Amino acid sequence: KVITRFAPSPTGHLHIGGARTAIFSWLLAKHFNGEFLLRIEDTDFERSKQEYTDSILASMAWLGLTWSGETIYQSKRLAVYNEYVDKLLSENKAYWCKCTPQELEARREEAKAKGEAFHYDGRCRSLNLEKGEGYAVRLKIPSSGMVRFDDLVKGQIAIDVNELDDMVIRRADGTPTYNLAVVVDDATMGVSVVLRGDDHVSNTPKQILIYEALGFKQPQFGHVPMILGADRQKLSKRHGAKAVIDYKEDGLLPEALVNYLVRLGWSHGDQELFNTQELIELFTTDHLNNSAAGFDPEKLLWINAQHLRSKSPEELYPLLEEFLNKLGLNTFDKELILRLIPLYQPRVNTLVELAEALRPALSSLDKLEYEPKAAAQFSDEGKMRLKALSDLLTQIDDKGFDVPAVENCIHKYVEDNSLKFKQVGPVLRAALTGQSGGPSLPEFMSAIGKNNTLLRIKKVLL
Ligand code: GLU
Repeated sequence: KVITRFAPSPTGHLHIGGARTAIFSWLLAKHFNGEFLLRIEDTDFERSKQEYTDSILASMAWLGLTWSGETIYQSKRLAVYNEYVDKLLSENKAYWCKCTPQELEARREEAKAKGEAFHYDGRCRSLNLEKGEGYAVRLKIPSSGMVRFDDLVKGQIAIDVNELDDMVIRRADGTPTYNLAVVVDDATMGVSVVLRGDDHVSNTPKQILIYEALGFKQPQFGHVPMILGADRQKLSKRHGAKAVIDYKEDGLLPEALVNYLVRLGWSHGDQELFNTQELIELFTTDHLNNSAAGFDPEKLLWINAQHLRSKSPEELYPLLEEFLNKLGLNTFDKELILRLIPLYQPRVNTLVELAEALRPALSSLDKLEYEPKAAAQFSDEGKMRLKALSDLLTQIDDKGFDVPAVENCIHKYVEDNSLKFKQVGPVLRAALTGQSGGPSLPEFMSAIGKNNTLLRIKKVLL
């Protein structure tokens, strides 16, 4: 059974790099009908914050990344880690170390001065110390040999144990180190595939040594390259990258962000657009790229626009509602909003833009604002044409105020008076929307209805 997990440390909001590994792990579990776990790695009590945990959970929920069972907190599992550290001690596979952080720091400085890499020399290993105040616990690693693993993304990796040292598995303050906790958790939770960022690739040989010492079965590992900025530098705000939760505020659709992030590190031919169901069907680790992808905010926006366009008004409405509310726009007439959505869908990239685009149609008459360019249309001549047009529009049957009827009416007026459409269209649009551009007028008029259309014209004529 495929069991994957996402294991964020709650030391910041969920960023797109973390989100992408979470998505990969989730898709893999879904693809194989397996399970996806969420484990909050909060044993760094100094840096972990509840607000970040909350924010990560909210981001996961928004992205639709559901997990099996309860959220797991490492901080509640200290007894489990201790049990395994004690086991290693009793089997003589680990030992107490009395070297203080200050001593280690001094030795590290010394090595640095000589231009050497610092490795703990194992000086406490042969001392057979008993438990003592302020002692850490270290793992005894083999004195020679290679640690090998077959990475799902990077292929064969081999590390000489001489490049490693007897690593600390429990700190002097009694807390487990990341490498120990992650191994105990992944093994006892049955995780079969560990996908994570390749900033962790150097931890994997250390973790493998812990798996071996504890006699645990090893999972498969896959390390995905980091997401970089367009300039190939480490991704940051200046590349337009934001926390996942900020994209929600920006009016992105979660499945668009999922689509974009998955494509940034995985491919299926040159297909760009995927819905989440398709991704579940197609995703395996076979096509994960081994080269770092560059983040492109424009492309993300384009993907979002495509997803936005593919949705029905009924699907968009519940997502749009909060953005309309934020603008203080009326949402009581849902039917009206459903009629308006298709008019603007092809013209906007985000839910924020869509909500903003609906402003003229949803504003009450007294709140309708006229752009200067629109207001300039209200000359005597313009008003005269509006008056004539409104008299004709009044004659359309209340129930028949649809696109063809309105279109005919405007055409007939233009023809009968030997006018050009541009002598009528702009002033009509200005009266109805206060704007100088927008969707087709007959569509707009039939969407807001006869009564509302006539009232808007009347207001300008008063
Ligand atoms: N807590 C680690 C991190 O956020 C997890 C790494 C892993 O997936 O093993 O980087």
